[in-house]
Amino acid sequence: MKTRLTSVSLLAAILLPFTGQAQPPATKPATEEAALTEADLNLREALVKGASMEEIAKLKEPAAKTPQEAIRALKSGNSRFFGGTARRPEMSANERRSQILQQTPFAVILGCSDSRVPIELVYDQGLGDIFAVRVAGQVVDPGTAGSFEYAVKHLKTKILVVMGHEGCGAVKAAMLPPADLKAEPENVRYLLAKITPSVAEITKIRDPKAKMREAVMANVRQQVALAKENPVVKAAIAKNELAVVGAFYEISSGQVDFLETDEELRLN
Ligand SMILES: [Zn+2]
Repeated sequence: MKTRLTSVSLLAAILLPFTGQAQPPATKPATEEAALTEADLNLREALVKGASMEEIAKLKEPAAKTPQEAIRALKSGNSRFFGGTARRPEMSANERRSQILQQTPFAVILGCSDSRVPIELVYDQGLGDIFAVRVAGQVVDPGTAGSFEYAVKHLKTKILVVMGHEGCGAVKAAMLPPADLKAEPENVRYLLAKITPSVAEITKIRDPKAKMREAVMANVRQQVALAKENPVVKAAIAKNELAVVGAFYEISSGQVDFLETDEELRLN
Protein backbone atom coordinates (compact mmCIF):
# COMPACT_ATOMS: atom_id res chain seq x y z
CA MET A 1 0.00 0.00 0.00
CA LYS A 2 2.81 2.31 0.92
CA THR A 3 4.48 1.64 -2.43
CA ARG A 4 1.23 2.28 -4.27
CA LEU A 5 0.74 5.64 -2.56
CA THR A 6 4.27 6.66 -3.47
CA SER A 7 3.70 5.72 -7.11
CA VAL A 8 0.49 7.72 -7.23
CA SER A 9 2.21 10.78 -5.73
CA LEU A 10 5.06 10.42 -8.18
CA LEU A 11 2.67 10.16 -11.12
CA ALA A 12 0.81 13.24 -9.90
CA ALA A 13 4.07 15.17 -9.63
CA ILE A 14 5.01 14.25 -13.20
CA LEU A 15 1.60 15.01 -14.66
CA LEU A 16 0.88 18.15 -12.69
CA PRO A 17 2.56 20.59 -15.08
CA PHE A 18 0.64 19.13 -18.05
CA THR A 19 -2.81 18.93 -16.53
CA GLY A 20 -3.17 22.55 -15.59
CA GLN A 21 -6.70 22.75 -17.01
CA ALA A 22 -7.95 19.87 -14.86
CA GLN A 23 -6.91 21.83 -11.77
CA PRO A 24 -8.94 24.78 -10.49
CA PRO A 25 -7.69 27.66 -12.68
CA ALA A 26 -5.17 29.78 -10.82
CA THR A 27 -6.07 33.44 -10.67
CA LYS A 28 -3.31 35.32 -12.43
CA PRO A 29 -2.95 39.08 -12.56
CA ALA A 30 -4.28 40.50 -15.84
CA THR A 31 -0.93 42.11 -16.64
CA GLU A 32 0.88 38.78 -16.53
CA GLU A 33 -1.66 37.17 -18.89
CA ALA A 34 -1.38 40.15 -21.24
CA ALA A 35 2.42 39.77 -21.32
CA LEU A 36 2.12 36.28 -22.84
CA THR A 37 2.79 36.19 -26.57
CA GLU A 38 0.99 33.98 -29.05
CA ALA A 39 4.06 31.72 -29.03
CA ASP A 40 3.81 31.45 -25.20
CA LEU A 41 0.14 30.50 -25.45
CA ASN A 42 0.82 27.88 -28.15
CA LEU A 43 3.57 26.41 -26.01
CA ARG A 44 1.28 26.30 -22.99
CA GLU A 45 -1.47 24.56 -25.00
CA ALA A 46 1.01 21.99 -26.33
CA LEU A 47 2.22 21.25 -22.81
CA VAL A 48 -1.32 20.75 -21.55
CA LYS A 49 -1.93 18.33 -24.43
CA GLY A 50 1.21 16.39 -23.50
CA ALA A 51 3.25 17.31 -26.59
CA SER A 52 6.47 15.45 -27.33
CA MET A 53 9.95 16.90 -26.80
CA GLU A 54 10.31 17.50 -30.57
CA GLU A 55 6.98 19.32 -30.77
CA ILE A 56 7.88 21.52 -27.81
CA ALA A 57 11.33 22.31 -29.24
CA LYS A 58 9.71 23.47 -32.51
CA LEU A 59 7.37 25.81 -30.63
CA LYS A 60 10.11 27.39 -28.52
CA GLU A 61 10.94 30.55 -30.40
CA PRO A 62 13.51 33.16 -29.41
CA ALA A 63 11.99 35.82 -27.16
CA ALA A 64 12.96 38.50 -29.71
CA LYS A 65 13.20 38.47 -33.50
CA THR A 66 14.85 41.84 -34.14
CA PRO A 67 17.58 43.88 -32.40
CA GLN A 68 14.88 46.37 -31.30
CA GLU A 69 12.75 43.64 -29.72
CA ALA A 70 15.85 42.21 -28.07
CA ILE A 71 16.80 45.43 -26.30
CA ARG A 72 13.17 45.96 -25.24
CA ALA A 73 13.11 42.44 -23.75
CA LEU A 74 16.31 43.12 -21.82
CA LYS A 75 15.07 46.49 -20.56
CA SER A 76 11.74 45.15 -19.38
CA GLY A 77 13.44 42.13 -17.76
CA ASN A 78 15.79 44.44 -15.87
CA SER A 79 12.84 46.64 -14.80
CA ARG A 80 11.15 43.57 -13.34
CA PHE A 81 14.39 42.64 -11.57
CA PHE A 82 15.07 45.97 -9.88
CA GLY A 83 11.36 46.67 -9.37
CA GLY A 84 10.93 43.48 -7.35
CA THR A 85 8.57 41.80 -9.84
CA ALA A 86 11.01 39.31 -11.40
CA ARG A 87 9.29 36.24 -12.84
CA ARG A 88 12.38 34.05 -12.40
CA PRO A 89 11.19 32.01 -15.40
CA GLU A 90 11.34 28.32 -14.73
CA MET A 91 10.47 25.47 -17.06
CA SER A 92 8.52 22.28 -16.71
CA ALA A 93 10.54 19.06 -16.84
CA ASN A 94 9.39 18.47 -20.44
CA GLU A 95 10.39 21.95 -21.59
CA ARG A 96 13.81 21.52 -19.98
CA ARG A 97 14.26 18.16 -21.67
CA SER A 98 13.26 19.59 -25.04
CA GLN A 99 16.15 22.05 -24.78
CA ILE A 100 18.60 19.28 -25.51
CA LEU A 101 17.47 19.48 -29.16
CA GLN A 102 18.40 23.12 -29.75
CA GLN A 103 19.00 26.53 -28.21
CA THR A 104 17.48 29.82 -29.36
CA PRO A 105 18.98 32.60 -27.22
CA PHE A 106 18.04 36.11 -28.39
CA ALA A 107 20.99 37.92 -26.78
CA VAL A 108 24.69 37.37 -26.30
CA ILE A 109 26.01 39.26 -23.30
CA LEU A 110 29.68 39.76 -22.48
CA GLY A 111 29.79 40.54 -18.78
CA CYS A 112 32.17 40.45 -15.82
CA SER A 113 32.67 37.28 -13.77
CA ASP A 114 31.86 39.23 -10.58
CA SER A 115 29.54 37.16 -8.37
CA ARG A 116 27.24 40.14 -7.85
CA VAL A 117 26.47 40.43 -11.57
CA PRO A 118 24.70 37.22 -12.66
CA ILE A 119 23.48 38.03 -16.15
CA GLU A 120 20.29 35.94 -16.33
CA LEU A 121 19.06 37.19 -12.95
CA VAL A 122 19.78 40.86 -13.70
CA TYR A 123 17.69 40.62 -16.90
CA ASP A 124 15.12 38.21 -15.45
CA GLN A 125 15.65 35.68 -18.24
CA GLY A 126 15.26 31.92 -18.19
CA LEU A 127 17.00 28.83 -19.52
CA GLY A 128 17.93 29.18 -23.18
CA ASP A 129 17.36 32.96 -23.43
CA ILE A 130 20.87 34.36 -23.07
CA PHE A 131 24.23 33.24 -24.41
CA ALA A 132 26.42 34.48 -21.56
CA VAL A 133 30.15 35.14 -21.90
CA ARG A 134 31.77 36.11 -18.62
CA VAL A 135 35.34 37.12 -17.92
CA ALA A 136 36.81 39.57 -15.40
CA GLY A 137 36.54 43.09 -16.85
CA GLN A 138 34.42 41.80 -19.82
CA VAL A 139 37.37 42.15 -22.21
CA VAL A 140 37.27 41.26 -25.89
CA ASP A 141 40.06 38.79 -26.64
CA PRO A 142 40.28 35.68 -28.86
CA GLY A 143 38.45 33.52 -26.30
CA THR A 144 35.51 35.83 -25.66
CA ALA A 145 35.35 36.87 -29.34
CA GLY A 146 35.18 33.20 -30.36
CA SER A 147 32.22 32.76 -28.01
CA PHE A 148 30.22 35.73 -29.31
CA GLU A 149 31.12 34.94 -32.93
CA TYR A 150 29.54 31.51 -32.42
CA ALA A 151 26.39 33.04 -30.91
CA VAL A 152 26.04 35.63 -33.69
CA LYS A 153 26.86 33.34 -36.61
CA HIS A 154 25.19 30.08 -35.58
CA LEU A 155 22.55 31.03 -33.03
CA LYS A 156 21.55 34.29 -34.75
CA THR A 157 21.38 36.31 -31.53
CA LYS A 158 19.84 39.70 -32.17
CA ILE A 159 21.86 41.78 -29.77
CA LEU A 160 25.39 41.80 -28.36
CA VAL A 161 25.69 43.60 -25.04
CA VAL A 162 29.00 44.45 -23.36
CA MET A 163 28.10 44.98 -19.72
CA GLY A 164 30.33 46.61 -17.12
CA HIS A 165 29.31 47.19 -13.54
CA GLU A 166 29.64 49.43 -10.51
CA GLY A 167 32.61 48.62 -8.28
CA CYS A 168 34.46 46.43 -10.79
CA GLY A 169 37.64 45.11 -9.16
CA ALA A 170 39.28 44.37 -12.51
CA VAL A 171 38.81 47.94 -13.73
CA LYS A 172 40.01 49.30 -10.39
CA ALA A 173 43.15 47.13 -10.53
CA ALA A 174 43.82 48.20 -14.13
CA MET A 175 44.20 51.79 -12.86
CA LEU A 176 46.94 50.88 -10.37
CA PRO A 177 50.58 51.74 -11.14
CA PRO A 178 52.22 48.82 -13.05
CA ALA A 179 54.65 48.23 -10.16
CA ASP A 180 51.71 47.34 -7.88
CA LEU A 181 50.66 44.54 -10.23
CA LYS A 182 54.02 42.76 -10.45
CA ALA A 183 53.01 40.12 -7.91
CA GLU A 184 49.80 39.23 -9.79
CA PRO A 185 49.71 35.97 -11.79
CA GLU A 186 50.57 36.28 -15.47
CA ASN A 187 47.04 35.71 -16.73
CA VAL A 188 45.58 38.29 -14.36
CA ARG A 189 48.07 40.80 -15.74
CA TYR A 190 47.07 39.76 -19.27
CA LEU A 191 43.42 40.63 -18.56
CA LEU A 192 44.25 43.90 -16.82
CA ALA A 193 46.46 44.94 -19.74
CA LYS A 194 43.37 44.68 -21.97
CA ILE A 195 41.61 47.27 -19.76
CA THR A 196 44.47 49.67 -19.00
CA PRO A 197 44.51 51.57 -22.35
CA SER A 198 40.87 52.66 -21.94
CA VAL A 199 41.26 53.89 -18.35
CA ALA A 200 44.64 55.62 -18.61
CA GLU A 201 43.13 59.13 -18.79
CA ILE A 202 40.58 58.57 -16.02
CA THR A 203 43.10 59.03 -13.20
CA LYS A 204 42.59 62.80 -13.54
CA ILE A 205 39.04 62.64 -12.11
CA ARG A 206 39.19 63.27 -8.35
CA ASP A 207 35.86 62.03 -6.95
CA PRO A 208 36.44 58.27 -6.38
CA LYS A 209 32.87 57.16 -7.23
CA ALA A 210 32.72 59.31 -10.38
CA LYS A 211 36.18 58.11 -11.33
CA MET A 212 35.23 54.43 -11.03
CA ARG A 213 31.99 54.86 -12.97
CA GLU A 214 33.77 56.74 -15.76
CA ALA A 215 36.53 54.12 -15.88
CA VAL A 216 34.01 51.28 -16.21
CA MET A 217 32.12 53.23 -18.91
CA ALA A 218 35.37 53.92 -20.78
CA ASN A 219 36.25 50.23 -20.71
CA VAL A 220 32.75 49.28 -21.92
CA ARG A 221 33.06 51.75 -24.83
CA GLN A 222 36.49 50.35 -25.69
CA GLN A 223 35.28 46.74 -25.65
CA VAL A 224 32.17 47.66 -27.70
CA ALA A 225 34.46 49.31 -30.28
CA LEU A 226 36.61 46.16 -30.42
CA ALA A 227 33.55 43.92 -30.75
CA LYS A 228 32.24 46.07 -33.60
CA GLU A 229 35.51 45.56 -35.49
CA ASN A 230 34.99 41.81 -35.40
CA PRO A 231 34.25 40.56 -38.95
CA VAL A 232 31.37 38.26 -37.92
CA VAL A 233 29.76 41.06 -35.90
CA LYS A 234 30.33 43.59 -38.69
CA ALA A 235 28.63 41.35 -41.25
CA ALA A 236 25.58 40.81 -39.01
CA ILE A 237 25.27 44.57 -38.31
CA ALA A 238 25.45 45.31 -42.05
CA LYS A 239 22.47 42.99 -42.60
CA ASN A 240 20.50 44.67 -39.76
CA GLU A 241 20.45 41.35 -37.95
CA LEU A 242 22.45 42.49 -34.92
CA ALA A 243 22.89 45.55 -32.70
CA VAL A 244 25.86 46.06 -30.39
CA VAL A 245 25.32 48.13 -27.26
CA GLY A 246 27.10 48.87 -24.00
CA ALA A 247 25.58 48.60 -20.54
CA PHE A 248 26.41 49.63 -16.98
CA TYR A 249 24.95 47.62 -14.11
CA GLU A 250 24.61 49.48 -10.84
CA ILE A 251 24.97 46.94 -8.04
CA SER A 252 23.37 49.23 -5.45
CA SER A 253 20.09 49.76 -7.35
CA GLY A 254 19.97 46.69 -9.63
CA GLN A 255 19.44 49.00 -12.59
CA VAL A 256 21.13 48.72 -15.99
CA ASP A 257 21.88 51.87 -18.03
CA PHE A 258 22.36 51.21 -21.73
CA LEU A 259 24.81 52.98 -24.04
CA GLU A 260 23.12 52.80 -27.42
CA THR A 261 23.76 55.88 -29.53
CA ASP A 262 26.98 56.69 -31.40
CA GLU A 263 27.46 59.62 -29.02
CA GLU A 264 27.07 57.43 -25.91
CA LEU A 265 29.53 54.92 -27.37
CA ARG A 266 32.05 57.44 -28.71
CA LEU A 267 35.62 56.82 -27.58
CA ASN A 268 37.24 59.82 -25.92
ZN1 LIG B 1 33.96 43.31 -12.53
